[in-house]
Amino acid sequence: MAGKLERLGLRTVRDLLFLLPIRYEDRTRIRPIVDLKPGQRVQLEGVIARARVIMGRRRSLLCALRDETAEITLRFFHFTRQQQAGLSAGTRLLCYGEVRQGPRGFEIVHPEYRRLREAEPAPVQDRLTPVYPTTEGVTQPRLRGLTDHALEHALEDLPDLIPAPFLARLRFPGLHEALRTVHRPPRGMALETLLSGTHPARKRMALEEILAWHMGLRRMREAGQRRDAFPLSAIGPLREEFLQRLSFELTSGQRQAIEQIDADLARNVPMMRLLQGDVGCGKTVVIAAAALAAIQTGRQAAIMAPTELLAEQHMRTLSDWLAPLGVRLAWISGGMSRSERRMFEAELSGGDAQLAIGTHALFQKGVQYRSLGLVVVDEQHRFGVHQRLSLVEKGASGGQVPHQLVTTATPIPRSLAMTFYAGLDISAIRDMPPGRQPVNTVLISQERRHEVIERVASACGSGRQAYWVCPLIEESDYIESQAAEPTHRELSEALPGIRVGLLHGRATSRERDRVMGQFAAGKLGVLVATTVIEVGVDVPKASLMIVENAERLGLAQLHQLRGRVGRGADRSHCVLMYRSPLGEMARERLNTMRSTHDGFEIARKDLALRGAGEILGVRQTGALQFRVADLVRDGALAEPAQRIAEEMLHDGDPAVEQLIHRWVGEGGRYARV
Ligand code: ADP
Ligand code: MG
Repeated sequence: MAGKLERLGLRTVRDLLFLLPIRYEDRTRIRPIVDLKPGQRVQLEGVIARARVIMGRRRSLLCALRDETAEITLRFFHFTRQQQAGLSAGTRLLCYGEVRQGPRGFEIVHPEYRRLREAEPAPVQDRLTPVYPTTEGVTQPRLRGLTDHALEHALEDLPDLIPAPFLARLRFPGLHEALRTVHRPPRGMALETLLSGTHPARKRMALEEILAWHMGLRRMREAGQRRDAFPLSAIGPLREEFLQRLSFELTSGQRQAIEQIDADLARNVPMMRLLQGDVGCGKTVVIAAAALAAIQTGRQAAIMAPTELLAEQHMRTLSDWLAPLGVRLAWISGGMSRSERRMFEAELSGGDAQLAIGTHALFQKGVQYRSLGLVVVDEQHRFGVHQRLSLVEKGASGGQVPHQLVTTATPIPRSLAMTFYAGLDISAIRDMPPGRQPVNTVLISQERRHEVIERVASACGSGRQAYWVCPLIEESDYIESQAAEPTHRELSEALPGIRVGLLHGRATSRERDRVMGQFAAGKLGVLVATTVIEVGVDVPKASLMIVENAERLGLAQLHQLRGRVGRGADRSHCVLMYRSPLGEMARERLNTMRSTHDGFEIARKDLALRGAGEILGVRQTGALQFRVADLVRDGALAEPAQRIAEEMLHDGDPAVEQLIHRWVGEGGRYARV
């Protein structure tokens, strides 16, 4: 049992107290059968009127349960002879289950049941019954028993770590009362408020969790600030030449971000800065400028991208910019042979390479830097917080840690940033390079696909380039590539004289590099791709973006995809194809895309529609999983949490450590940075 509980993250009796129910069942009442509706989970009491085994498609035992008002069928597919004998006509039962529409009237499949003696009063619970998140081999009754035990024996001396005056001001209950309420809500409590998370007991727990994370991240920063970093100088020949040779003027947002970064780099404490800016605002130039500060100071820089494709593109862009300046670049990809890899490693450890580019492979075992001065994590929301941390530690040498710059195109509202990015300084680029025109966005039903193909033909005919995106239908590279391949064949046939390329996650990196290079060089008219092109891909001449099955994609993803066009001088178009009928949420998303281009606005809408986990890309990676809190629903708690954190940290409250330990887990991971 201990092993099974471990899988739920439960090691001590006290841990059980923080395993909070995901929902509740109401077994405080017995419902008259005549009142039931499908979908309800109910407790019933009655007498079995008839029982028989039928041999239909599946052998099943059917019992007609009758109370004073009506009858309902209990259906069992699995039953032992002994169970069957115990369910004979005349037996009195108390049972619980979900009502559904059966072939002949309402029924409950596999209800939980208990036989009652003739005159025994039906035992009803005086509290709502909690349902816990569980894992194989641990039943609900078992978990209820364990939490009963924990509430009885471990609650008493569980310290309340949030100072009482703060709770009083928010009118939140203390920890013990909150936990008792959440685990064993009294009869008659409005279930909705508990389930929707608006109940003060639930909110109080969410506050504690957010507070703990917030303080954990700030701790991490403080620990970081106590470490040494090598100061990097922004003034030098490489930087100067780079800016002079650049074919465009920096926007004021870019200039300001570079200034802030330069100031950080000049210090001997490690920079921990987030560079935030909408897709296409030009973060890569800023990254390059920062990398050059490291390089001209005689240090190495590493740029980590979330996908191979993006790493490949960075390699191309940065060698175009930096190789003429004499900068030596090295790049690593997952598909490299062992000898190529060894060469890469030697270049880094020997110091021949000044700038390393790759995915997380940059920091895998065996990779050693000679003198890493700066780590850039591009599109950081794709990585987990933990990954980011381990990476800085890897780059540490001789007691010094590298400066850290992380970038994201995900514009998140301030309240969330305060929690999620606590401990990072933020530079935001709010302007776009001049001459950008808003992308004209249209919604077209899948049935008019042939018109879209014609449109692509005429665009390519006049020298433009198009992306045609087939979103992944399941989380699998295999199926994903299957979605793109037939479309590639179809378009190749339908568009004679136009070269159509194919790009998907399963291709080798060499193959992807080749295709992307051809598209960037204008040798392909159309690029059929899966959503691998979603982040970062930059081909300014492409001006048409077609997205199939757009209704399946979230707003953040659609915004990223649309951000691939509208980068050049031509007026760009984005065609979102959808399959009817559209669900309400999907319609809302697509309309939002049509009506706005502002990343912040889209993020706000996305947040409202979907939830913060998705926005931050953390639900997928599981990087930051709150147990109770929900950053959308509990967004309003971020501010009080910050205030409380301020005071607790200021007072040197010993509860800080305990809170971090309680919610964030092994606090050591954070302290180490
Ligand atoms: P993102 O912020 O999404 O990473 P990129 O760095 O890929 O954006 O830049 C998008 C495009 O804009 C690139 O083609 C880049 O060369 C171009 N660009 C960046 N800054 C400027 C600028 N100040 N003026 C004109 N074009 C720019
Ligand atoms: Mg980018």
